[in-house]
Amino acid sequence: MSNKQTNTDVILIGAGVMSATLGTLLKELVPDWKISVFEKLSKAGEESSNEWNNAGTGHAALCELNYTTERPDGSVDISKAIKINEQFQVSMQFWSHLVNRGLIENPQDFIMQLPHMSMVQGEQNITFLRNRFKALSENPLFEGMEFSDDPQQLKEWIPLIMQDRSSEEPIAATKIDSGTDVNFGALTRKLFDQLENKDVELNYKHSVTDMKRTNDGLWEVKVRNLDSGEVESHTAKFVFIGGGGGSLHLLQKSGIPEGKHIGGFPVSGIFMVCKNPDIVEQHHAKVYGKAKVGAPPMSVPHLDTRYIDNKKSLLFGPFAGFTPKFLKYGSVFDLLTSVKPDNFVTMLAAGAKNMSLTKYLIQQVMLSKEKRMDELREFIPNAKSEDWDLVVAGQRVQVIKDTEAGGKGTLQFGTEVVTAGDGSIAALLGASPGASTAVSVMLEVMTRCFPDQINEWEPKIKEMIPSYGESLMENPKLLQEVHLSTAQALELNGEKKMSFSREKVEA
Ligand SMILES: Cc1cc2nc3c(=O)[nH]c(=O)nc-3n(C[C@H](O)[C@H](O)[C@H](O)COP(=O)(O)OP(=O)(O)OC[C@H]3O[C@@H](n4cnc5c(N)ncnc54)[C@H](O)[C@@H]3O)c2cc1C
Repeated sequence: MSNKQTNTDVILIGAGVMSATLGTLLKELVPDWKISVFEKLSKAGEESSNEWNNAGTGHAALCELNYTTERPDGSVDISKAIKINEQFQVSMQFWSHLVNRGLIENPQDFIMQLPHMSMVQGEQNITFLRNRFKALSENPLFEGMEFSDDPQQLKEWIPLIMQDRSSEEPIAATKIDSGTDVNFGALTRKLFDQLENKDVELNYKHSVTDMKRTNDGLWEVKVRNLDSGEVESHTAKFVFIGGGGGSLHLLQKSGIPEGKHIGGFPVSGIFMVCKNPDIVEQHHAKVYGKAKVGAPPMSVPHLDTRYIDNKKSLLFGPFAGFTPKFLKYGSVFDLLTSVKPDNFVTMLAAGAKNMSLTKYLIQQVMLSKEKRMDELREFIPNAKSEDWDLVVAGQRVQVIKDTEAGGKGTLQFGTEVVTAGDGSIAALLGASPGASTAVSVMLEVMTRCFPDQINEWEPKIKEMIPSYGESLMENPKLLQEVHLSTAQALELNGEKKMSFSREKVEA
């Protein structure tokens, strides 16, 4: 046991984009609060938030077909798409505020404008896409979206995908130019850099091993210093568990009743990355397809131009897979050790219900490179195996809980904020829509955990995020102002010329 003991206002566990966002929001609102961060890896943003571990899509529901569902009468429900779009606008406003205040610089290091497209094949899918386009394009949030099933137009939009296709093959796409590619790793590092300048204590190679409530209402967090091996003890009034895939275990250690009967199911991701600069140059969009039958929503295939390390790259995926680890740098015992007496029945029920998903994921892991190439060839018909490498992405731990609608052991594909009744601790579980909605999700944490302060903070929040508490969809004037001001602050005015990434990343 080390002698190192501290007492602080806030402890953030994990140095991913969620903790970075919460810390930044709090420092803007209450600069004198003391904040400590404990991260078990040696740098910030190395797990799911890292640029190679996620798809970098600024999820605004501009292209992801799984955010809109088809009703039995063929009409399309866009309510989820509206919510996600509004949440992304909140993130864009907060990032713009940080740039305007000079807290983060060079927004093109982390965000680039890039057309977002949805692409489908076959008459039935085309009818769905047309109906979806109709529903979305009537909404001001999705202004500028175009639809085409004309092969000539599609050749202009997506030459690489349209090359060597027979013209009889029915294919259609929508395109909207205001989409973005976001380097969440770069953003996370920038946010932690400015937090460090504001005296936030960043402790890397410090793994949180346990936590408990003290008699005086604080949280005592046990932390292992991975260099010295010593266990330190730190107390705080408020703890945020932002451990990504590691959050479930930490929530269980807190012992709060709100964390009971919850389980986790890990889904891994693999991308293919193109190493041929000529091919990379022929594509300029994020093109989302339709998930295969039986596939989980997060494995919708997409072919994406990416800007990583200020270089243009081309990635395809993600292929979902199964490993019992909850973090990319986690342990193979993660799944097993997450099963506790209180969630045993929930997990058992989920296991029985999701046999086909588990089978699907295991089959995905076993896919040979050639089989993966066949999936890529549905996008690029003449793709050559030697032009593509595999890269292992991050882990997503899907929440399993008992719900009224789904019954015991229902797999959730969204994000869950779990807070103690007294608001002294909060955890973020799940990973969709993920980093894109970090600001809204962290504002939700603050609303639930700081009910006495949130009203007092509101004017400042509105200054940072003008659409806070408002619906942009119902306020087209504000929407236009927000679009203009964020595009200006984040320099979203077209493509920046970049060199091609020749870095080879092995699986
Ligand atoms: C394949 C894939 C594709 C994705 N694509 C997108 C996308 O296109 N757009 C999007 O918006 N989102 C996407 N996401 C989701 C997004 O990456 C996550 O929602 C987001 O990065 C989560 O951030 P976080 O801070 O919660 O977790 P993380 O970034 O995983 O950070 C958690 C941190 O906690 C640390 N930690 C864990 N346990 C402990 C402990 N006991 N002690 C100390 N530290 C600990 C970890 O080391 C890690 O650094 C994707 C995710 C995956 C896996």
